[in-house]
Amino acid sequence: HQGQEMLSIKGLVTSYGQIEVLHEVDISIKTGEIVSLVGANGAGKSTLLMTISGLQPTDKGQMLFEGEDLAKIPADKRVARGIVQVPEGRQVFKDLSVHDNLLLGAYTRGKTPEVMEDLEKIYGKFPILRQKRHNLAGELSGGQQQMLAMGRALMARPRLLLLDEPSMGLAPLIVEEIFQTIRELKDEGITVFLVEQNASQALALADRGYVLETGEVVLSGTGKELLSNEKVREAYLGM
Ligand code: ATP
Repeated sequence: HQGQEMLSIKGLVTSYGQIEVLHEVDISIKTGEIVSLVGANGAGKSTLLMTISGLQPTDKGQMLFEGEDLAKIPADKRVARGIVQVPEGRQVFKDLSVHDNLLLGAYTRGKTPEVMEDLEKIYGKFPILRQKRHNLAGELSGGQQQMLAMGRALMARPRLLLLDEPSMGLAPLIVEEIFQTIRELKDEGITVFLVEQNASQALALADRGYVLETGEVVLSGTGKELLSNEKVREAYLGM
């Protein structure tokens, strides 16, 4: 299904109480793409991801996942369909071991031989997690916790991976490593929706991107187009 529309969002409105945060957002993601969403603090990026995962209700508009109306699929079932979010700030279970954090990512699947195989794959992808598998997650560095959060999401076998600011607070070298991992996930066939304040790297990585400003999509295009866009360069790349 490479290249077919996977997620189609049309006229999406999301509010917190009386306050409308997303105003008629249109976004589309094709199977196999990396799509980046950039925008300032408070633009509504996290809210959009939470609406897609079903943690925030929709006021108006439509979200179709592989042609199916997401409104009819509760949050936990969306995970089973392959929509998996890595939340902002990692949110690993700090008092549990690395190993148990990873197993929790597969709690909907049980402790099957397949799950144990996936665990091995993730330890192969992130050798530091294998090395620290008996450590508490709270003892890991920020970059290691980000890898753990991604590993935990991978344990749910995502088809559409939603990443919320994976580079936040990390040193440049670690950011490079995380972005390299995202490239590899794409090569493995996972579709990625990446939310970032780090616009230059997020757009360089992306097939396509969107710019969100105070709850509205103001620009879209290929990653390359957006990187060379005058407005993006001024507002988000500091040029
Ligand atoms: P950040 O990078 O800070 O997470 P963001 O682009 O992801 O920014 P959101 O976190 O989606 O933005 O926030 C969008 C707007 O909604 C902001 O004005 C924020 O204050 C508001 N908001 C976020 N969460 C809530 C909440 N639980 N209740 C009320 N308002 C909220």
